[in-house]
Amino acid sequence: MRVAIGQLWQETNTLNPVPTTRADFEEFGICRGHDLVEKMEDVNELGGFIQSMRAWPKVPEIVGLVRLPAWPSGTATRECFRWLHEEFFGSIEVAGPADAYLLALHGAMVAEQHPDVEGAILEELRDRVGPGVPIVVTLDLHTNITNEMVRAADVLVTYHSMPHIDISETGQRGAEVLRRMLFDGATPTAAFCKIPAVVPAENSNTEAEAGIAPDLKRRVVELERRPNVLAAGMAPVQPWMDIPQLGSSVLVTTDNDPQAAREACASIAEEFWRRRREYLPELVEAKGAVRLAHEEGGLTVLSDAADATTSGAPGDSVWILAEMLKYDWSREALVTVVAPDVVEQCSRVAPGAEVTVRLGGVRDNRFGTTVEVKAAMERCFDARFKMTGHIGKNMPIDMGRSVVLRHESNVRVVVTTRSGPHFAPEFFRSAGFEPFEASVVVAKSPCGFRAVYSEHAAAIYSVKAPGCAPSDFWNYEFKTIPYPLWPWDDIEKWSPAQDLILT
Ligand SMILES: [Zn+2]
Repeated sequence: MRVAIGQLWQETNTLNPVPTTRADFEEFGICRGHDLVEKMEDVNELGGFIQSMRAWPKVPEIVGLVRLPAWPSGTATRECFRWLHEEFFGSIEVAGPADAYLLALHGAMVAEQHPDVEGAILEELRDRVGPGVPIVVTLDLHTNITNEMVRAADVLVTYHSMPHIDISETGQRGAEVLRRMLFDGATPTAAFCKIPAVVPAENSNTEAEAGIAPDLKRRVVELERRPNVLAAGMAPVQPWMDIPQLGSSVLVTTDNDPQAAREACASIAEEFWRRRREYLPELVEAKGAVRLAHEEGGLTVLSDAADATTSGAPGDSVWILAEMLKYDWSREALVTVVAPDVVEQCSRVAPGAEVTVRLGGVRDNRFGTTVEVKAAMERCFDARFKMTGHIGKNMPIDMGRSVVLRHESNVRVVVTTRSGPHFAPEFFRSAGFEPFEASVVVAKSPCGFRAVYSEHAAAIYSVKAPGCAPSDFWNYEFKTIPYPLWPWDDIEKWSPAQDLILT
């Protein structure tokens, strides 16, 4: 038996003017064929697939297709999509016939010619392999599940956790679903409900002690323990995509039990809808948040959600930095900026030399601002590390040549060539800092940073500042989303029965 595995991973933010290109995938790290199976055996979903299948009573031949990953960013170019398509289907031809396909997709990728990249890829794969070959797909919690995806794949398995600390486990859950199809004769029967609501990410912490996110996670996890359920997922979509099928989803796939699928799906969708306002966060203006951080003795984390690089924002916002430069900080205050030209400029001078740089407003030329900073060039380093925690298990990251600038206020600006996890402790450590001992960490992340910072931070503020991933996205103009959609529109009545389909 041959099971083919592969990955296409990119989350698109269509508000970000920086396009996603082929170079972004190539720089992040593509693996093909057997190399994929070797290198990814303990990394993210692919690692989960491989380890789970190696423990099956009858171990299949694991055939590596291709791993195509790129960091979250703007819309993929036409050329990029064409190339991805060629890479993906080329790998399927090279691999030869397979008895099943197990794919790790993100599920919220947009290209210039395709608002639903994963739907397009899965539909074509289904056409090519025919109806009898199982296709099981894992997806991020922030996936925008579409009718095309549901129709083309046999089962879609989503992460349960935000922060995404269950990536490898999701891979294992996907493989287990496939095992049940191949060896136990499981027949996937799903109920899918698209909810006309999109929610901010701040209050989506499923690991919190109480709230809507942990409550809904508990429900889907409980469902999956039932013998007649193959997979259950609650997917509050990532909001920054101006596309026709934008919306949150519930998907429950049973082993041939349409009634159970329908009841569970409708009940979870109803709860999400009824409690949707609980997702609305409390935000603090940058000015006030920085002042509060300065008054605090311990570590303050300022969540710059609008410039969250994990949400596909450009990562060069300096709205919070501009406020921080007005104070003196007793311990290091850490801020990050993506600015390849500044890295280039600073790597030409010796450590300790004074530089004057202009930061911000280049990548995000829509909502960004610029500050001029006079600072000492403290050091150059390569932002290269392995990341475990939110969105990764042993995931190799390379944000390129980077520099640390030391301002007289004790603000340290860590400037990188490429975007990446601008919140991860491993990132700050690669820059020579212990983030938990800083006075301030600006985390370009709306919620995922909580996985590690919650227990170390004396205070956490969700900051309201301009950017490409605003928490109040409904105050921005979206042209193609399926209105009426909450919170853009105040929808009075909705029930799951209106939008629930069985497959
Ligand atoms: Zn996500």
